[in-house]
Amino acid sequence: MSKLNQPLGGNDMPRFGGPVTMMRLPASETAAGCDAVFVGIPMDIGTSNRPGTRLGPRQIRDESRMLRPFNMATGAAPFEHLQVADIGDVAINTFDLKDSVRRIEAAYNDILGHGAIPLTLGGDHTLTWPILRAIKARHGPVALVHVDAHADINEAMFGERVAHGCPFRRAWEDGCLLNDKVVQIGLRGTGYAPDDFAWGRAQGWRIVTAEECWGRSMAPLMAQIRALVGDSPVYLSFDIDSLDPGFAPGTGTAEFAGLTPWQAVEIVRGMAGLDIVGCDLVEVSPPYDPAGSTAVAGANLLYEMLCVLPGVPQGQAERLHDFDLG
Ligand code: MN
Ligand code: MN
Repeated sequence: MSKLNQPLGGNDMPRFGGPVTMMRLPASETAAGCDAVFVGIPMDIGTSNRPGTRLGPRQIRDESRMLRPFNMATGAAPFEHLQVADIGDVAINTFDLKDSVRRIEAAYNDILGHGAIPLTLGGDHTLTWPILRAIKARHGPVALVHVDAHADINEAMFGERVAHGCPFRRAWEDGCLLNDKVVQIGLRGTGYAPDDFAWGRAQGWRIVTAEECWGRSMAPLMAQIRALVGDSPVYLSFDIDSLDPGFAPGTGTAEFAGLTPWQAVEIVRGMAGLDIVGCDLVEVSPPYDPAGSTAVAGANLLYEMLCVLPGVPQGQAERLHDFDLG
C-alpha cells in the first residue's frame, strides 16, 4: 500500500457518494506535507457579465468523482509520486473584491511556504493576479501559458483596476512575468478596437489566436512553447471560456468558435517536462450548464495538470497502435 494519499475508488464507495473533495481525495487543513494541493476560490464578484463562478469549485469537485488515478493515454500515475490533498476553499470576502485579492495572496503565500504546488479551482479570473504575486514572492518572475478567449489585459473595467478582465495587466505591472516567455492561446471574438490584442505583443508576449488553432493539433505549438520556456518556472492559467461554448457553456463571457476539448488536453499535456509552479482552471459557472459538462471539462483538465507536474514520470503508457491512422 502506498503511503501517499489516494482518491477514494468506486469499488470502495459508489461514485455518487463519499466526500465532495477533488477526486474524493483526503481533505487537509493546510498544504503541510503536500507536494501539490487542490484549492478552491469560490468567487464571482470580479465578473463583468454572467455571474455564478462562486459555485465553480463546488461543482468541479462534484464532477471530478469519475476520475480514476491512472492516466491511460500518457501513463502518468500522479498519486504514486506526489502527496496530494484537497485543502478546501480560500475564505474570500464576498462583499469586497479588493479584500478578497488580499486574502487570496495570503492564502497562497502559506501554500507556497509549505513547498506545495497549487492547482486552483476557480472562481473568476481576477484570482490569478494575487496568485501570481505570491508566486513571484516565492519563485521570482515566471513564464506564463495563458489559455483564454480573452487577453485579460484591460487597464480598468468600469473604472476599476481589479476585475476579471485585468489580472495579467496587474501581474505585468507587479513584475510577476518573464515578458519574453508569456504566451496567450485561444484569443478571439469581437473587440473595442482593431488593436485590442496588440498590447501584449508590445510587451514581448506571444499570441496564438483561436483562428490559428482551428482544425490543428496543438502538439507542434506546445513543442515550441517548451523550447521557449526552457528551464524557467512557468505558471499555467486556463480559462474554461477558451473552449468553444458548445463544449463549455457554463461560463460568464462565452465567445463563439473556440478550442475543442482535445486541443485543451493537448495544451496541458504539452506542458510536461516544464518546471510548473502552479496552475489554475477558472471561470466555470454552473448555473449556465445544468448538465455539468463544463465542470466535467474543468475537473479533467485539472487532473491533466496534476499529471504533468514535476516529479510525475511520463510515457509509461502501453502503446496500442493496431492501425495506422495516417
Ligand atoms: Mn480570463
Ligand atoms: Mn475569458
